[in-house]
This record gives sequence, structure tokens and C-alpha cells, in this order.
Amino acid sequence: MRISIIGGGLAGVEAAYRILKAGIDVDMFEMRPNKMTPAHHTPNLAELVCSNSLKSLDPTTSQGVLKSELRALDSLVLKVAEKTKVPAGGALAVDRELFSLEIAKELTKFPNFTLYRREVFDISHYTIIATGPLTSDTLANQIIEFTGSDNLNFYDAAAPIVEFSSIDMNSAYFATRYDKGCADYLNCPLTQDEYIAFHTALVNAPRAKLRDFETPNVFEACMPIEIMARRGLDTLRYGPMRPVGLNDKSGKRPYAVVQLRLEDKAGILYNIVGFQTNLTYKAQREVFGLIPALKNAVFSRYGVMHRNTYLNSPVVLQTANASKKDNRIFFAGQLTGVEGYMESAMSGLISGINMLRLINGQDFVSPPIETITGALCSYILAENKNFQPMRACFGILPFLHDVKKDLRPIAYAKRSEEAMDRFITKYAL
Ligand SMILES: Cc1cc2nc3c(=O)[nH]c(=O)nc-3n(C[C@H](O)[C@H](O)[C@H](O)COP(=O)(O)OP(=O)(O)OC[C@H]3O[C@@H](n4cnc5c(N)ncnc54)[C@H](O)[C@@H]3O)c2cc1C
Repeated sequence: MRISIIGGGLAGVEAAYRILKAGIDVDMFEMRPNKMTPAHHTPNLAELVCSNSLKSLDPTTSQGVLKSELRALDSLVLKVAEKTKVPAGGALAVDRELFSLEIAKELTKFPNFTLYRREVFDISHYTIIATGPLTSDTLANQIIEFTGSDNLNFYDAAAPIVEFSSIDMNSAYFATRYDKGCADYLNCPLTQDEYIAFHTALVNAPRAKLRDFETPNVFEACMPIEIMARRGLDTLRYGPMRPVGLNDKSGKRPYAVVQLRLEDKAGILYNIVGFQTNLTYKAQREVFGLIPALKNAVFSRYGVMHRNTYLNSPVVLQTANASKKDNRIFFAGQLTGVEGYMESAMSGLISGINMLRLINGQDFVSPPIETITGALCSYILAENKNFQPMRACFGILPFLHDVKKDLRPIAYAKRSEEAMDRFITKYAL
């Protein structure tokens, strides 16, 4: 039995390591350097395309909890990151060149590992597809065909997501426009003065730098809010901040309204409707914090703008990142709708574990929902008409109602540790 892994990025190397350790042969196909993506610069495996930070090490942050879980699961990416780290305060940052070289060294220690430097154009059985957000066009078309039509999404800009518990409900109110249907939207009103201050800050705020390949023809529907705002003072009041039909608690029409839409079944996360943005993260906190109901908003995901290819996972995937159509074909990494370096590695690990279970004739498994790993795996499968990539955050975990707000991170961390221990013991991982 030989397993093919397409893509030698963060997810691909993690999946490979898990399978190699079990003594199974792995053929890895990486198209670089013969064919480069618009973001990669080297032929290296597990190249970090942008920041060299793998985010927080603090065990009581969501990223720290994810790292604890990955450590317990013997993640290659985490092990090598810890070995090649550079000083970065509370974050785990690495020497990116050393990091990649060390990953390659670890994999090539296995005699059952073969690396082919070529682009893959088609999909075969017993394969893990981990080709990332910049999957080559031909393979992307094959994936569209295999998964069934429009199941690949491409987007240029995404709106931020905030945690419900951080929204000021003295200011925000539930309502639907003209009271039609259920009052599902959360509305954040602004007075004229507040709107003018917000508009001024928005048009003057710094934007994240775009690479050449990302200075795209932006679809009108994906127009970043700061660009739309530059068209005129009132443009947003006739667009995403339209107040008509959204009277406030006193029955009056606000000057402008920002609408938030539920992002998950648990009611924990809300998407800021129409607020696709390319502002820097700091500017997003500052400018969107001028909306009174969002003054203390906790961002589960910031708005981003870059090319991204990802599956409509709720429709095409089943547990364990296996495709619904053929459970011998797995996906992994950012392509499945997780977002971030560690999240992609985590996804590769889950695909690797389950590919092994498949070839051993065992059922697929996913970590418990109380872990960040399990919650992300579950998030990408949950029914969601507006599915967009998600990173590690406490907002996707089952909420701990009985624990005080400031003690919650520690409680989340402890609960995750216990749940992951049980999972690892149960399945002898
Ligand atoms: C521009 C950009 C910047 C980002 N910056 C950050 C950041 O700073 N921090 C963060 O946490 N996350 C960031 N991300 C998100 C994400 O974490 C990374 O994209 C991450 O590398 C995803 O891991 P992956 O394994 O899914 O894909 P990748 O790491 O991209 O690996 C996929 C691999 O597949 C190869 N490949 C593609 N098509 C084929 C084919 N047909 N045949 C063979 N090989 C193929 C590619 O060459 C690549 O090596 C960024 C994403 C982008 C696009």
C-alpha cells in the first residue's frame, strides 16, 4: 500500500509524518520549484508564505491550546517549530529557512518517503490533497469536477467575525428589515456624529499591503468597505449601512446601521455583513471599534483580502476530511476551510490519522468538540450557507456558561487537555 500526498505545505508534511511513522509508504508530490505559486518564494517544503510567526504560545489562548493539543498528538510542524524558534515574546516564531530544512530532514529520515517534484493534474485513490489556498488551476478544475460543480469557492475579501459575548447589547438590537421574517440580524446603530467619525476614520485607515498578484479586479460584491466608503460620505448609508426598515428599540430609524449575521449554530459568532476589508488588523480594531456596539468587540477572525481556494466543506466532506464521494480521497489544510499555519498542520494530522484508520479497516475519528482541533473539524462540516475559512478561536468551542469570563480561558484549556487525553488513549494515537 502506498499513499499519495499532493502538496508539500504545512498540511502535507504533517499528514506524511503521521503515515510514515506507521511504516506505510508515502509518495509526496510538490510542484515547486518547477511551478511556483504566486506567494511561495522557495522550493522548500512547509514554506511559510508570509509571517514567520506561528502565533501565541500562551497555553490559555486559543492558539496556545491548539499547540498543546498538537503537542499531545506529536505534531511534526510544532516539534520542528520549537526546535527552530527565534525570540518573539509570547509568540512562537521560527527561522523560516531552518524550519523548512528541518522538516525536510525529518521526513527524509524515513526510507519509506519519496518526494517527487512535479505538478499533479488528476486525482487518484488513497490520496491526500493538501494543495492549499493557491492550488494550481488545473488541479483546482479537477477538484471542481470530482466534488461536483461549484464546490470550490474563490474570494478576494472577507468580513471580520466577532464574538457575541463582546457585543454591547445596550446598544445593539435584534431586528429584520421591515420586520419581515425572524429577527435574526443583530443591528448596531450609529448617530450622525458617530457615522461621520466612523467614515472619516475608515477612509484614512491603513490597509494591509497587497502583493502584485493580489491587486485584482475586485468583484463588486467583494468590494472592501474602505474602498466603497471613498466613493462618498453617504455611499455606505445607501449600501451595507442602510438604516431603512431597521428601527431601533425606541422605534426610531437610526442614521446608519451595521448589521451582524449569525455565523454558527451555537450563536457565539457574528459576521459583520458587507464589511469585507483589507485594513490592517490594528486598524480594524480601531475603526470598527468606533461603532458603539462594537467598542469592545473581540475579533474571532479579521477581515482579509487575498486569493483563496477552499472547498465548500459542509457539502463535500465527511468526518476526518475524507470526501463524501469517495472515502479513499482526503483533503487537508487550508483547502478544507481552516485558516492559518497551525490550523493547516492540524488538518493534515487529522487526515493522516484517518487515512491510516481507513487502510486498517477502522472507522473515521475526530477529536472531541471540546478541543480546538475537534471544534475546527466540526466547524468546517456544519451546515453553513455562507461557509468561509475559520481559524482557532474560543468562539467555536461549546460555551462555558457557568465559568466567570476572566477564568474561561483557563477552563477552556483544562477541558481541552482532558478531552484530548481521553481521545488519544481511546484510539491509541
Ligand atoms: C498570501 C498568503 C499569506 C498568508 N499568510 C499567513 C500568515 O502570515 N499566517 C498564517 O497563519 N497563515 C497565513 N496564510 C494562510 C495559511 O496558513 C497558509 O496558506 C498555509 O501555508 C496553508 O497550508 P497548506 O498546507 O494548506 O497549503 P500550502 O502551505 O500553501 O501548501 C500547499 C502546497 O501545494 C503545492 N501545490 C499546489 N498545487 C499543486 C499541484 N497541482 N501539484 C503539486 N503541488 C501543488 C504548493 O506549491 C504548496 O507547496 C496565508 C495564505 C496566503 C495565501
